[in-house]
Amino acid sequence: MKYIREHLSAKVFLSNILVIAIGVIVLLIATELAVPATFQRHMSQMGMSTGQGMGMGNGNGQGMNSFFQNYRASVTESLAIAATASVIAALLVSLFISRRIVAPVQTLNTASQHIADGQYNKRVEITGEDELAQLATSFNQMASQLEQVENKRRQLIGDVTHELRTPLTSIKGYMEGLVDGVLPATPETYDQIHNEASRLARLVDDLQELSRVEANAFSLDIHPTDLSSLVGTILKRLSPQATVKRITLRSNLPANLQHVLADEDRITQVLTNLVANALQYTPEDGSVTISAIQKDDEVIVSVKDSGIGIPPEHLKNLFTRFYRVDKSRSRNAGGGSGIGLTIARHLVEAHGGRIWVESEGEGKGSTFSFSLKAKK
Ligand code: ADP
Repeated sequence: MKYIREHLSAKVFLSNILVIAIGVIVLLIATELAVPATFQRHMSQMGMSTGQGMGMGNGNGQGMNSFFQNYRASVTESLAIAATASVIAALLVSLFISRRIVAPVQTLNTASQHIADGQYNKRVEITGEDELAQLATSFNQMASQLEQVENKRRQLIGDVTHELRTPLTSIKGYMEGLVDGVLPATPETYDQIHNEASRLARLVDDLQELSRVEANAFSLDIHPTDLSSLVGTILKRLSPQATVKRITLRSNLPANLQHVLADEDRITQVLTNLVANALQYTPEDGSVTISAIQKDDEVIVSVKDSGIGIPPEHLKNLFTRFYRVDKSRSRNAGGGSGIGLTIARHLVEAHGGRIWVESEGEGKGSTFSFSLKAKK
């Protein structure tokens, strides 16, 4: 009983046996009930009427009665032989079918156990198009999603470890140098240590922000926003930085620019990031321009710089976290860890917009643009 409860194949097999048994019983009962009447009808068609009917007391009646008994016995016997043969055949077929039905379920069961054990590369073979095949397809999709998430998680831990190690190693090196007396205890040395510690703190902040936007754990307060005043604020905030590098920082906005539907703080964050990058990757005496144009029901905001540009092969990866065109370059230039643009992408996409970059190549400047819905 326990075996039947625990095994689907046993249940399917048992239900088939039940069907067969009922079929056989109905067949036997129906035959038993039908034989006298059909016998009578056939006899009368042959002109061999039993007269008073079967089982009557005269000689003719007795002969007919025994004839009928023999006929009935032969029918029952043939029926029993035929039923036994067909029951055996049905049992074999049922055994085969129940195994066939249950086999894919068992395969799925084994594969799901592998997944539960963390072996995300397991897939099941899909045969046919029935519900089990659909289940197998969904299972494979689920497994590849899990595999991707797991790969991303591993990669993230690897990247974070790598990013944390660099400033930590640096701080440790400075401290050892100071302790051993190899490095002079000057304000410059302490400044370097402070810079590394600041970078570490910035990285941790960025990571926190990244995890928040990647998990969609932030809310947007979207309302009609005046881009002109938003751009004005950013220009004011970043002008000192531009002045230090003698970079011309300006805006080029049409006078009647439509309001956009945006969370002001979040779009300020995106635009600040793009302008700060432009200032960082533009050499002295260059220029950075913030512009906006209306296109259908969208407003496209662009930040164009005359900076170092981006080689074409890097363009499509720039919005992927931790991606940097030249790792040593951005680090030496006081750059970040390649998280800023990923955060910007998430924020813009949360507004229902797109973000992209264009560059003619190295040394030819870059233009970062994003779209926002215009207020109707
Ligand atoms: P980071 O903090 O390293 O600047 P971002 O995600 O903001 O991280 O940018 C990723 C990479 O894209 C940068 O490391 C840099 O290589 C490249 N990049 C971003 N903005 C510009 C730009 N205006 N000009 C050239 N390269 C840029």
